[in-house]
Amino acid sequence: MTEARILEIGQIETPAGEIRFLLLPELDLFSRRAGRLRLLANGHSLGDYLTFLALLADAQQAALNRFPTLPPPDPRGLALCRKHGMPLLATRTMTRNPVWRESLTMILEQMSDAALPTATRETINSLMQASKIGLEEMADSVLAGDLDGIFPQELPFVAAALQVYWVKMASALGEESFGRLEQGGLCPVCGSPPVAGLVRSGGAEQGLRYLCCSLCASQWHMVRIKCSSCESTHGINHYILEGTNGAIKAESCDDCNRYLKLICLEKDRQMDATADDLATLALDMLMDEDGKARSGPNLFLHPGSG
Ligand SMILES: [Zn+2]
Ligand SMILES: [Zn+2]
Repeated sequence: MTEARILEIGQIETPAGEIRFLLLPELDLFSRRAGRLRLLANGHSLGDYLTFLALLADAQQAALNRFPTLPPPDPRGLALCRKHGMPLLATRTMTRNPVWRESLTMILEQMSDAALPTATRETINSLMQASKIGLEEMADSVLAGDLDGIFPQELPFVAAALQVYWVKMASALGEESFGRLEQGGLCPVCGSPPVAGLVRSGGAEQGLRYLCCSLCASQWHMVRIKCSSCESTHGINHYILEGTNGAIKAESCDDCNRYLKLICLEKDRQMDATADDLATLALDMLMDEDGKARSGPNLFLHPGSG
């Protein structure tokens, strides 16, 4: 592991007034992620898992394409959220529409047609027969960030279904519906922590850092060289894996001792926050050895499986 050169803020930022604050997820998100996962799986030590996640992302895309149109959120609730600077689609406070379980059913049905190991097929069958209450409890655990509260084999399916539901809602509302939160490190759409940061490539956002939501894949702007967890601007260090091109760094903070990966799309525009984060677990292991903890989850990474 080598420490990377720290960039000068003045060299990389454009004036804040011109910056688009929020980029909502695009509706082909999951098919692009599936393609990326297949590419990364090639010759990778976690190839089987990445290939499984590619099939899951295909199923997410199919579920998103067929997902029913949702009624708009209650205007009084929206007004209240805006007044108090709360995310409109907050995972912890919004009443979840039970229709999210339809996306789970669609995903499970598509995955049951795939050639998968017996244990995975058993998980699919058991989730298909799970009670509504049981599924809602699993969803509660995932959305509260308590990934230990759900079995590792069940997590990817439940997380995948919740992602589809939140992506659908976020994209239906439009960017102008959302405002900034006081806590700059949480998703202004749903209040979840980021899976990774992306340095954008191309267009007006060239070279700017956006944090990518671990749940709804919305991206929101945060200046670079600032801890996304505690917002400190001191003691920020970048680490890269030796022998790599530095397209993916871990950005750590001395103040809170946490880190988040920073994925530089200028080096490869096909990179995907969720997929490329999973494909660089070696960097997480080194950060862990260094006593640094991740500041945001990857919903396809169970804490007990690392
Ligand atoms: Zn979000
Ligand atoms: Zn910090």
